[in-house]
Amino acid sequence: MSILLKGGIVVSAHGRRQVDVRIDGEKIVEVSTNLKAEDSTIEDVSGCFLLPGFIDAHTHLELNNGKGSMSTADNFYTGSKAAVAKGTTAVIDMATPSKGSSLKDCLATWNQLASGNSSCDYTYHMSIIEWNPSIKKEIKEMIEDGITSFKMYMAYDNLRTTDAEIFEAMREIRKYQGMLGIHCENGDLVNEMIAKFVAEGKLSPHYHPLTRPDSVEAEAVERYLMIAKLADLPVNIVHLSTKRALEAVKRARSRKQKVYVETCPQYLVLDDHLYDGPDFEGAKYVCSPPLRSINDQHALWDGIMDGQVNTISTDHCSFNFEGQKTTGKDDFSKIPNGMPGVETRPELIYTYGVTTGKISLERMVALLSEDIAKQFSLYPQKGIIQAGSDADIVIWDPKKTGVISAATQLQNVDYTPYDGMQTRGQAKSVYLRGQKVAESGRVILEKQGKFVFRNITPIDE
Ligand SMILES: [Zn+2]
Repeated sequence: MSILLKGGIVVSAHGRRQVDVRIDGEKIVEVSTNLKAEDSTIEDVSGCFLLPGFIDAHTHLELNNGKGSMSTADNFYTGSKAAVAKGTTAVIDMATPSKGSSLKDCLATWNQLASGNSSCDYTYHMSIIEWNPSIKKEIKEMIEDGITSFKMYMAYDNLRTTDAEIFEAMREIRKYQGMLGIHCENGDLVNEMIAKFVAEGKLSPHYHPLTRPDSVEAEAVERYLMIAKLADLPVNIVHLSTKRALEAVKRARSRKQKVYVETCPQYLVLDDHLYDGPDFEGAKYVCSPPLRSINDQHALWDGIMDGQVNTISTDHCSFNFEGQKTTGKDDFSKIPNGMPGVETRPELIYTYGVTTGKISLERMVALLSEDIAKQFSLYPQKGIIQAGSDADIVIWDPKKTGVISAATQLQNVDYTPYDGMQTRGQAKSVYLRGQKVAESGRVILEKQGKFVFRNITPIDE
């Protein structure tokens, strides 16, 4: 039985048209004006925008990095439900191996976490946390298994590799035209700054951002882009948060480098005064990179408006305030890093970006869906409403208003960094590969998510 979505306005990164959309099975089969009902069930979507399902290219839905570390409050089941309820139909989660284990084992672990539990479609960026001949060999194997993107770290002692290792990994990834994203912060400097403040007895959350100033990010971005230039690899920068780092990107682009920049809602709507909240509230905002100044926030919005910033994902990594964040009560460096956000991205960007006139709805579609799909080899299966694509469709009601609240959220965590914020625009219903899975912010059909196999064409060398 096919479905005919009638009377809505279909939006892509390049424009909008009042057209009807026919879905048959998992696919969109027709997009045109005045389609006849034939044997389709008609769904009246007039007054709404039809947006391609949002893709979150940066989540840690379920994370537990080795001995003694904490597991995230969300897992694949709860995180993916929160995602799809508000319009995110696919996530690219960060698959992170433990030291000494193979990428293949990590992939198997992540498949086990997601398979049968996820309410949105999913794939992963494979993290490379150490470099040796067997990991090198596995790059090709990952790509053959449909994992075309990788993640590396310049900070966190348990995750980071050396510049030489980053360079070698880039050379290997380049052979297969894979995509690499890096967490850019100078890990040595972060360690020094933490040690300094701790030695001085400066232990409140106020000091967290001071251990990771903009120079720590900008230096790492500059160095990473220099290494990428040597390796001749187009690269992605995840969660870019500062004006100075964005200036490093502009310099790289002026020397003709291909660079992709991701930022996150927390750097666009929150700022670093929140670390000074009463009753240890600042701990709720401890993430890395940290929240930044208003000046940085403005620079990021400018980057979004002029195209220097390519995508917005969330870096969703949720820890409860009580019992998890509070373990750092006497020492900010022990507060687990990360914030929830997979649920709130569409409403925040619509409210703070589109309704303020900063960006068009078309630009929002590019930032949250189409350009992510293109960058990570999901396009045109995902990221666009056209015949042949997966029927991942968000029926967006621009008139709906709401208030973000920890009490009503679906994320399985005891707070939200956006508590009390008023929003405009909301997913009225959400289709995942042709099935209506969410309505009015509630999931009506869960665990329908599937692994998305990605393909890239190898380049000739
Ligand atoms: Zn992350």
